[in-house]
Amino acid sequence: MTFQYSRGFAHQLDEQDTLKDYRQWFHFPTNAQGEDLLYFCGNSLGLQPRTAKQSLDAELEDWAKFGVEGHFHGKNPWFHYHKFLTQHSAEIVGAREHEVVVMNQLTVNLHLLMVSFYRPNAKRYKILMEAGAFPSDMYAIESQVNFHGYAYDDAVIELQPREGEHTLRHQDIIDAIETHKEELALVFFSGVQYYTGQLFNIKEITQKAHSIGAIAGFDLAHAAGNAYLKLHEWNVDFAAWCSYKYLNSGPGNVSGVFIHEVHGLNEKTPRFAGWWGHKEDQRFLMKRGFIPEPGAAGWQMSNAPVFGMAVHKASLEIFHKAGMENLREKSKKLTAYLEFVLNFVQNHHPNLSFEIITPSHPEERGAQLSMLVKENGKALFDHMTQKGVIADWREPNVIRIAPTPLYNRFEDVFALGEIIKSFQL
Ligand SMILES: *Cc1c(COP(=O)(O)O)cnc(C)c1O
Repeated sequence: MTFQYSRGFAHQLDEQDTLKDYRQWFHFPTNAQGEDLLYFCGNSLGLQPRTAKQSLDAELEDWAKFGVEGHFHGKNPWFHYHKFLTQHSAEIVGAREHEVVVMNQLTVNLHLLMVSFYRPNAKRYKILMEAGAFPSDMYAIESQVNFHGYAYDDAVIELQPREGEHTLRHQDIIDAIETHKEELALVFFSGVQYYTGQLFNIKEITQKAHSIGAIAGFDLAHAAGNAYLKLHEWNVDFAAWCSYKYLNSGPGNVSGVFIHEVHGLNEKTPRFAGWWGHKEDQRFLMKRGFIPEPGAAGWQMSNAPVFGMAVHKASLEIFHKAGMENLREKSKKLTAYLEFVLNFVQNHHPNLSFEIITPSHPEERGAQLSMLVKENGKALFDHMTQKGVIADWREPNVIRIAPTPLYNRFEDVFALGEIIKSFQL
């Protein structure tokens, strides 16, 4: 499709957009005049669905009305509450229902998953991951290898982009797995890289990891609700994601976990246990001897944090209605338009110089584009903020912009272009 830089053209794309009405389902932050801000930060904290409050209120009311009896007699009995989230979570990541559970928070879950799936031995103890991973992942991995008695520099292989490049070449990832085939215990990548916006080829990374006898795990914080995923079919061993970025479920909210059924249905898969992962029909017998629920549910530890889950539930219902495939299709177009607009503006601006470091191929990125601004990046970012744009700044010189298909319009992208165009030093 050939794009045009005009408000009319952007408006026309919005008119043709079959998902355009979902924007009404969200609360937008406003400026002092009460006008909606241009929100491009759904990769960091998604906007609040208008249905969130009602869903949360329903549980507060049941608590008021039933007290402890709400576990069984509420409208959505809390005893089963996590189950209300599994079907729609499974749709989002391409899993079978029993391969998914919502519990805890993301970094906690990464640790619990590594307890099960990072099982180093004398020969195979190394982890391959991307350099410059999200800090929490680096710390989690560092403490895991230290916990097992290994030194980080020895046990962790960080893969760097080639000299002068910003993102990893897929073939270099595959080759690195081959190079270290005797010693890798785990290949651990993000789905979408938080800084560069690169979407990794999860299917082929998993295939290659398995071919040399390693486990493949993924942190999907920036991929869930953004990229089109088929974790079951791709035979991914494990994955986790948070619910507050593209999944719009509110600050610090619960995390989702995927455990492939080959591991999840195997009672012998080692894990740290708690009462909520115990076989459900025997949970209240309060007896010694842990017997796991089959599937990912057998990794639960504590009883469900219902209030956070109530908000997540409201959000997942929107994803279910809109459909991940439709969202991804719109997202590709919206991000392609953003790319076009940014390049257009740069070409028509006398002294603006930036590089989009996110891959240009639609299959190698999600919604986000990362602009590396060579000079005066912070001044440009401040100008955008002052004009009502919410985007995000990452030191030393990157502006991340993520138009999301649920609530961003093509016109928002055009409006952003006009604001960047008006930047003067
Ligand atoms: C956002 C993000 C996290 C955040 O972890 P929390 O435990 O939810 O604070 C972790 N990893 C990645 C890759 C992220 O993008």
